[in-house]
Amino acid sequence: MEATTLHVISDGPTTQYRSKKNFFFLSQIPYEMGFSRVTWNFLEAGHGKGPADGVGAAVKRQADAIVAKGIDLPNAKMVYEQLMNQPSSIKLMYVSEEEVQEMDGVLPDRLETIKGTMAIHQIVSTEPGEIAWRVLSCFCQEPNTCQCYGLKKVQMSLPSSGPSTSGSQPIPNVHTGLVGRWCIVKYDGDPYPGIVIDVGSDSCLLVKTMSRVGINRFFWPMRDDVIWYRPEDLIRMVPEPVPVTKRHMMLEPSIWKEIFNEM
Ligand SMILES: [Zn+2]
Repeated sequence: MEATTLHVISDGPTTQYRSKKNFFFLSQIPYEMGFSRVTWNFLEAGHGKGPADGVGAAVKRQADAIVAKGIDLPNAKMVYEQLMNQPSSIKLMYVSEEEVQEMDGVLPDRLETIKGTMAIHQIVSTEPGEIAWRVLSCFCQEPNTCQCYGLKKVQMSLPSSGPSTSGSQPIPNVHTGLVGRWCIVKYDGDPYPGIVIDVGSDSCLLVKTMSRVGINRFFWPMRDDVIWYRPEDLIRMVPEPVPVTKRHMMLEPSIWKEIFNEM
């Protein structure tokens, strides 16, 4: 059976993890990955004795041992690379500055602030864009969500404040001059960048689209993905995406953010 609920367990000694930005991502990204429900559970600050603290301490000890051997660890990348050479059951991931910025780029302009964030110990999301929170975790009616401990619903993203400065472009007139240009088309409710290959007499567009991996990251699929789109599925014309790696490209973050907010 495929997993449908994603349960996240983390430590939570600071407000950092319990921020509205992370709550927003929690209310979006797991759904994009195919989950239909999410819980995020924050362990109480364990004064250095909880399981999450134990993992942190083990990593720190390993890093200390590397430095003691005379190897400098001036930045996170070096720490990561050195630790990856060590035998360990702890799974490490390196998050680059670029990836952090990319995520920032998809945040809406305005997010709902949740008061008393430090008291929150469980977030539950059962619908994209929506979360609910409570002061203690409860799983008494799994896989359904119980209402114990005053579960409180919050709509994460607020309507954007004022008119957008970069101007949401109206759907462009479809004409043959668009051939060869980059656009965003809607397929099954999701936006994809692609190149206009042809324009039909009925104003339909033949578009070769890229595939998406994660937030604002696209690549050309092995087999060309070329299909006709109705004019109403053309979201807007965009500048050519820029390469991030050899295979991956991204749209200018502010453009992606606008498109994401409009969908
Ligand atoms: Zn319960």
